[in-house]
Amino acid sequence: MAPDGLIKPWDAHNEALLQNAHPPDWVNPEPSGRYNLVVIGAGTAGLVTAAGAAGMGAQVALIERHLMGGDCLNFGCVPSKTIIRSSRTAHEIRTAGRFGVCAGDGVTVDFASVMERMRRIRSHISEHDSAQRFGDLGIDVHLGEARFTGPDTVQVAGKTLRFARACIATGARAAVPGTDGLEEAGFLTNETVFSLTDRPARLAVLGGGPIGCELGQAFARLGSHVTLIHSHERLLPREDADVSGILLEAFRREDIPVLLNARILRVRASNGGKMLTVASEGRERTVEVDEILVATGRQPNVEDLGLEAAGVTYDRRQGVLVNDRLQTRNPRIYAAGDVCMRHKFTHAADAAARIVIQNALFWGRKKLSALTIPWCSYTDPEVAHVGLYEHEAQTMGIEVETLTRHFEDVDRAVTDGTEEGIARVHVKKGTDKILGATIVAAHAGDMINEITLAMVAGIGLGTLGGVIHPYPTQAEAIKQLGDAYNRTRLTPLLKKVFTKILAWRR
Ligand SMILES: Cc1cc2nc3c(=O)[nH]c(=O)nc-3n(C[C@H](O)[C@H](O)[C@H](O)COP(=O)(O)OP(=O)(O)OC[C@H]3O[C@@H](n4cnc5c(N)ncnc54)[C@H](O)[C@@H]3O)c2cc1C
Repeated sequence: MAPDGLIKPWDAHNEALLQNAHPPDWVNPEPSGRYNLVVIGAGTAGLVTAAGAAGMGAQVALIERHLMGGDCLNFGCVPSKTIIRSSRTAHEIRTAGRFGVCAGDGVTVDFASVMERMRRIRSHISEHDSAQRFGDLGIDVHLGEARFTGPDTVQVAGKTLRFARACIATGARAAVPGTDGLEEAGFLTNETVFSLTDRPARLAVLGGGPIGCELGQAFARLGSHVTLIHSHERLLPREDADVSGILLEAFRREDIPVLLNARILRVRASNGGKMLTVASEGRERTVEVDEILVATGRQPNVEDLGLEAAGVTYDRRQGVLVNDRLQTRNPRIYAAGDVCMRHKFTHAADAAARIVIQNALFWGRKKLSALTIPWCSYTDPEVAHVGLYEHEAQTMGIEVETLTRHFEDVDRAVTDGTEEGIARVHVKKGTDKILGATIVAAHAGDMINEITLAMVAGIGLGTLGGVIHPYPTQAEAIKQLGDAYNRTRLTPLLKKVFTKILAWRR
């Protein structure tokens, strides 16, 4: 694939991005003997594996066919969070009246400037992931398509690399549904949507998972008329039903039509636009748009890798099959990140890479299942989660107690005007051991870290009740959950004794 083919528009920012992520004049090094580690894919998982291994003194080769930095930098986290920031500003100004602030006559979003800012920031951040920087770390960076040719050899750009260990970190891509007429009508994915310079006046977003919800709300706030079409009965179906409900309500407030339980029957080109025929909630309707964004899930990149030659088993849906130590069926070869993991997040790919370094190079016995992986959907409000859901605990036969705090009872959320949301913690019944938590709040992604830390360090919810939080902060919700838990420990007998003591001391 010509690396500049996907990077549009061709401006100074994208030129700088390419210079870092796939320098046009890059000359691949001559393979030097047998590598300790060959890493395929230079997204988060590959970069962290390669840099960590090289830092320990290993001879490392890193192969990337397209852009160093992978999805996160180029087509995922970085561009999406950058435009979400612009969209939040537009929303804040639009709703400033409720804070007694007059913002003048409406809001004008300069979409081209929003996207230019995104490209500028992305190219700036790309310096961290640049081919030059990784070369300077002592890593042999090979640009080209990698393919296993045997159990311990990989070919790239006509050269054969021999390895003691390898790591497959080839990521995932948008899974595109085989809907009648979709291919012919044309559509955007996360790989093309950030190339837009003109705002689509009408945008259909297919998929109500994290990517669809984040980008759907962002584009709506930037001025597109967005229709979100989702096959499930609720948004973010992995989350609790009331959590999905809070988000749905937020979308309704912002006049974003959401079609649930929806099935797209066909797509046709129409008057320069695209017409979708959708069956939803017992009705058939047509939705006419200018662009379609497909966000209906992720598909691991396992094709054309020569996995058969390497003796690595895989499944087109699950990706490369690994054991808990991230080892494939070929004991020399490991995998990390979106290509093999259920949790498709940058921080999860990073954590998995650290496991691979230890297990592949240093006889480590680290397990993926031992990780506590939080996540966050950066909608407004944000939805963050860590650990088990109540239904998962039940399936595992673990009895839980669930405590929920509504943000309308948290002073800082009230003063901020962000009362919609909850903080919820599940503890193992009869103890204060935290099994899982969900937070729906303006900055839930930051707040969940306190709970994750408690879980990792074995700190119980009761202890969090004794941790002083500055007043007024939204994170006080967590202390309040701790207080609520401690109150439940007050047995009727203890309560009686306390009442007696206090009466005596009156
Ligand atoms: C729109 C969007 C928003 C997101 N937002 C967030 C977020 O806010 N937070 C978060 O944690 N996660 C987010 N994610 C998910 C995150 O981007 C991924 O989990 C992360 O990038 C996975 O890293 P990876 O290294 O496994 O794969 P990737 O980043 O996909 O990297 C894989 C690399 O392998 C290369 N490759 C593939 N095949 C070959 C081959 N044969 N030879 C050589 N190279 C090859 C690819 O070109 C690619 O560069 C988002 C994703 C999307 C799409």
